[in-house]
Amino acid sequence: MFGSEEEIWEFITWSFESLQEGKWPSKDWKGVLYDSSSEEGMKAGTELADGKAFYIWFVKGDLDWLVKGLWLRHYNADELCDFCPATIQAPDPGMKAMNFARGSQWKSRLRTPREWRNSARVLHFLFVKFEYLSIWNVECDDLHIKYQGVWPLVLGSILYVIVYQLLDRSPVENMNWLCAQIIDEYHSCKVKVQLHKVELSSFTDPRAPGADFPCLKGRAAEIKHITLPIRNIWKGLRTTGCVFKDGIDACLESMCEMQEITDATYRDVFLDVHEAAKYRRAVATFLENYSDLAVLADAQRTMDPRHPFLFNTIPKMHWMWHGGYKCQYIHPTRSSCCVDEDYMDFVREIVSHSVSGTPSHNVPGRFIEKVSWSMYFKNKFQV
Ligand SMILES: [Zn+2]
Repeated sequence: MFGSEEEIWEFITWSFESLQEGKWPSKDWKGVLYDSSSEEGMKAGTELADGKAFYIWFVKGDLDWLVKGLWLRHYNADELCDFCPATIQAPDPGMKAMNFARGSQWKSRLRTPREWRNSARVLHFLFVKFEYLSIWNVECDDLHIKYQGVWPLVLGSILYVIVYQLLDRSPVENMNWLCAQIIDEYHSCKVKVQLHKVELSSFTDPRAPGADFPCLKGRAAEIKHITLPIRNIWKGLRTTGCVFKDGIDACLESMCEMQEITDATYRDVFLDVHEAAKYRRAVATFLENYSDLAVLADAQRTMDPRHPFLFNTIPKMHWMWHGGYKCQYIHPTRSSCCVDEDYMDFVREIVSHSVSGTPSHNVPGRFIEKVSWSMYFKNKFQV
């Protein structure tokens, strides 16, 4: 039924099973007993790693992979969530997936591992083979959800409010002023990863501003590191009278708090109980306030269609809530699928140095070898 995908997972889970036992296997991945005189046969049953064993703690991937590779619910579907029974179109407001108000019912109806197994339409090989695994072991990809999903929408709308609604000169003049402020903040906050050119077209279409939801363009690391400068600039603006003031205040503070916590503990595997509670609270506060901003902007537009589209909401926000809720089980940064987009350049570079003089079927092995050495040196010398 599943063809080669099933075979790949048979091989992977066979490997995981041996690691779990902590012993070299006596059978190959097809279940065939090794000849006792073979190299594998002689190692069979002996310790793999000085008596140590390995268990899967979490499974991570971006939302696309979780759907296509792990057969979880589609993040764009009405019933989008495996963690809870919330849906996009739920008739009961308390069960709406994008309702982040404090008392929303779905927040107190998270599925236990057993409930999740019973509710899953199909279970992936991994969950069939290892019964101790469940949706609670699946991690939302923090980098894609926050810095390539939610943050660009929040910051894009905030820039729009500053340039088109708060400052009193022309949008171009306002943008030039704002750009200079951002550069100043980069210097005073000692930000190394900078979004070099922020202009109107970086977050809206200057020919029809507000005709679509603003979204700040940039690489994940650039988006992440512009948050603090924008927060500082926002705090210095005269925002009295701005209907979005309280919501933006709360969102920017929560975003900076999340970043502060993860940056300060970047190399840790887990957040301590105190930090985890703060992080979870910051995520919930952010989402609660952001959805209020979205409702407010929507109400404005309903009253008068000349109002701009602001504060778009996307299903990634629902995932973000669950990621925040689960943060005590693994550091949020560990769930990122890669450090940043530079990783792809890094992969290309290593591959280009692995192909020369190497038979094509050996290139993957050569690549892994070089990556292992680079990680070894990186960890050893902290570069
Ligand atoms: Zn959910």
